Amino acid sequence: KPTSANSCPLTPLTFLDRAATVYGDCTSIVYNHTTYTWSQTHRRCLQVASSLAGIGIRRGHVVSVLAFNIPAMYELQFAVPMAGAVLNNLNTRLDARTIAIILRHGESKLLFVDSHLQALAMEAVSRFPPEIPRPVVVLIRDNVGSQATNDVEFFYEDLVEKGDENFQWIRPENEWDPITLNYTSGTTSSPKGVVHSHRATFIVAVDSLIDWPVLKKPVFLWTLPMFHSNGWSFTWGMAAVGGTNICLHKFTADDVFSAVNRHHVTHMCGAPVVLNMIANSPNAKPLENPVHFLTGGAPPPAAVVLRTESLGFIVSHGYGMTEVGGVVVSCAWKEKWNRLPVTERASLKARQGVRTLGLTEVNVLDSESGLGVKRDGLTQGEIVLKGGCLMLGYLKDPRATAMCMREDGWLYTGDVGVIHPDGYLEIKDRSKDVIITGGENVSSVEVESVLYCNPAVNEAAVVALPDKFWGETPCAFVSLLGDKDGSGNVKASSDEILKFCRERLPHYMVPKTVVFMAELPKTATGKIKKFTLREMAKNMTPS
Ligand code: ADP
Repeated sequence: KPTSANSCPLTPLTFLDRAATVYGDCTSIVYNHTTYTWSQTHRRCLQVASSLAGIGIRRGHVVSVLAFNIPAMYELQFAVPMAGAVLNNLNTRLDARTIAIILRHGESKLLFVDSHLQALAMEAVSRFPPEIPRPVVVLIRDNVGSQATNDVEFFYEDLVEKGDENFQWIRPENEWDPITLNYTSGTTSSPKGVVHSHRATFIVAVDSLIDWPVLKKPVFLWTLPMFHSNGWSFTWGMAAVGGTNICLHKFTADDVFSAVNRHHVTHMCGAPVVLNMIANSPNAKPLENPVHFLTGGAPPPAAVVLRTESLGFIVSHGYGMTEVGGVVVSCAWKEKWNRLPVTERASLKARQGVRTLGLTEVNVLDSESGLGVKRDGLTQGEIVLKGGCLMLGYLKDPRATAMCMREDGWLYTGDVGVIHPDGYLEIKDRSKDVIITGGENVSSVEVESVLYCNPAVNEAAVVALPDKFWGETPCAFVSLLGDKDGSGNVKASSDEILKFCRERLPHYMVPKTVVFMAELPKTATGKIKKFTLREMAKNMTPS
């Protein structure tokens, strides 16, 4: 007897068919001088999907994409799975070696490449040993100043032009069929291939729209890379609400301000580094109209939230990870909090919050007893999640999958947090980032949020510095505003930074060492690379 799961499987791909009917004349994509409507986007996606089928892509094949936020990248979020294939977005900031490892691990059959990234892709493919089949390369010739060579098998626009716009796209046989393969950004370990189902991506895409909330026909500025958890699922979400996707190939803070004003942007997302870049931009000016900014991916320091809001951004805060495909815990805002003093408001907003509708449960478990911790805002434990948007598992890695997803349905996140008496979750650290000094646990996030309050500080990260007496002590890596050479002499000395911390933190949490850098090292998704800093700290002599 057919169940609803296999007779009418949930999939976010159906959003596009509906968008063509409801929003057919409305603008779907704007990129420099190119503009498409939803009926054009629908047609182009079907054409690409039909061409993929024509060149031998079959249900379950992995198809990779290495592209910036350009129109083709958006189209491929639909076109690849519409051909029945599994979409593997690649992080554009990875090196050729890692890209080659991912392509081989995923057994990718075909690789779409943005012409700006052709050299990187070709170097990755050239690393394949002769006995391993290489993916077929399709070049996306971006019209904006890129130099591409023609030594590839196919060109994207040919696949569009030669494709059949009446193609019957390949529906999943079951809503648990895979739709995406996303490699984690590797903040704490080497990347793992996260496989998501059509069902989970449908849930998280709809859920994120309701939760933020995103009303009909938003104007969405793509600063968040679409490769990062499928733009946290807003790629599909924009089709659901008939939004306009403003695409930028690369951007600076000035580009953000000018795009926001030119296109009347209503929504955008980004990691806290983007928020920081906007807040600290020397050309920052108050917005003409408010813009909703959803931040997540790393803890947003309260001071940065405050600075961005003073420019007219309305900051929302969500927590998620590749393993859940988007934001699944968010700081649901209460009207009454608007009446609180500004700094209190900012600290409330820096909390991760409560589960969205796609999750059924969130808990914080004591590492020894395995039981839920006291909801006092103080007792720490590991954050665990349960619900409809969890991954199917890690590709070809049952051991890692079993470590993270337990039989009782809980996903163990490796994040350490507390639950406040009002039920809101707050992340204190990642289990690997907790600093244990003289037996006391120091939350690096808490120390960082104090450092960010110092007006001279641009970026801050705190890691453990090995210490013979204390075991570990907190070590702060700091970049200062305007300190281009990392000398630290611009606006604050090490002593001033430490004094600032001493006035605001218990003694044991105060960093013992401050290291100035021109810029802190970042992962491919723009998170501060704590493991690199930890390695640096290991090789330092404690002061
Ligand atoms: P990686 O694990 O390599 O960083 P992900 O992009 O999947 O790759 O990151 C998920 C992790 O990012 C979470 O487990 C958590 O540690 C961190 N994170 C995500 N959102 C937030 C947030 N709002 N606040 C604090 N940490 C966050």
